[in-house]
Amino acid sequence: MKLGIVGLPNVGKSTLFNSLTKAGAESANYPFCTIDPNVGVVPVPDVRLGQLAALYDSAKITPAVIEFVDIAGLVKGASKGEGLGNQFLSNIREVDAIVHVVRCFEDTNVIHVDGSVDPLRDIETIDLELIFSDLEILDRRISKSAKGAMNDKSLAKELGILKKIKAHLEDGNLARSLEIEDEDEREFISTLNLLTFKPVIFAANVCEDDLADDGASNDYVGKVRKFAEENNSEVFVICAQIEQEIAELEEDEKKMFLEDLGLTESGLEKLIAASYHLLGLISYLTAGPTETRAWTIKEGTKAPQAAGKIHSDFERGFIRAEVVNYQDLLDCKTYNAAKEKGLVRLEGKEYVVKDGDVVLFRFNV
Ligand code: GDP
Repeated sequence: MKLGIVGLPNVGKSTLFNSLTKAGAESANYPFCTIDPNVGVVPVPDVRLGQLAALYDSAKITPAVIEFVDIAGLVKGASKGEGLGNQFLSNIREVDAIVHVVRCFEDTNVIHVDGSVDPLRDIETIDLELIFSDLEILDRRISKSAKGAMNDKSLAKELGILKKIKAHLEDGNLARSLEIEDEDEREFISTLNLLTFKPVIFAANVCEDDLADDGASNDYVGKVRKFAEENNSEVFVICAQIEQEIAELEEDEKKMFLEDLGLTESGLEKLIAASYHLLGLISYLTAGPTETRAWTIKEGTKAPQAAGKIHSDFERGFIRAEVVNYQDLLDCKTYNAAKEKGLVRLEGKEYVVKDGDVVLFRFNV
């Protein structure tokens, strides 16, 4: 899973990105690599892993991960090739979702590219660039499909959909808000990789003082929240500068620091959880003496496909899954005790894997 961080210059993207990668790089037991200076691999915090690993005395814990991509260079006119322009826009096409950082903090030392703090105007500026870029993609697809549409029913249908999206964007709307008729149409639209079709989370970057009440007393945040509600998006409040400081602390210092701020988890943890939720992702777990590990799947994934995340052989040769809820397992203290209590279930090909399932797959090789 890959998330792209976007926003106007000077809103705090790099600060946020650096704290994310720093937090990732410093969490133990995972080979965090910086694939690219703009890509950071970040573990998904999951208390269940430590608990299960203790039960099994696992040699290793492997958390689920999310990739963040720092997509700098989005400015007014980007779709027309200003700034980093189109190269930027093609980077962002690869991501599953977008984290849109908006400046909600006042600081006369930090220049705003448009002269004043105004998150809704900023969101509109970025959205417009994304719309322009999507329109270009649509125009290209439309002229391609138009050629064959006379003799091909499915192309004619595609052309209809493309034109419908185009009209929708030309009215200043995002592809996300388009009314979609059926699953086939949704499927087709998602293959277009339109930027404005991707789910978005707004990260409202506030000053330290606004953290304790989660931005409730900050009018800018209120505006972003209202906007997001109207647009079916999520908002979370963050102070990028504080996150950067937190990322540099040891685990126990971090706890104290957060308590002083009146918080239970860091903004980054909230962001990662929100991203997971936004993308409809859940984790199932595998546990044993060698490794306790979280595996990311889409909600609704059936057992064989979930097994395929571990190895394609597991999917191909799937026989059944032994499943126990992680809390039941912890309560029973051993796998055998859970089995004796009838809490370990045998599930077949149609079983939909749940968040927190501890799974052992049986398969033919
Ligand atoms: P980017 O251009 O969006 O990547 O922005 P940067 O992360 O480089 O931040 C621009 C400037 O704003 C830097 O000087 C940061 O130190 C400052 N900054 C970032 N986040 C905050 C914040 O939460 N509060 C304040 N006061 N300044 C911040």
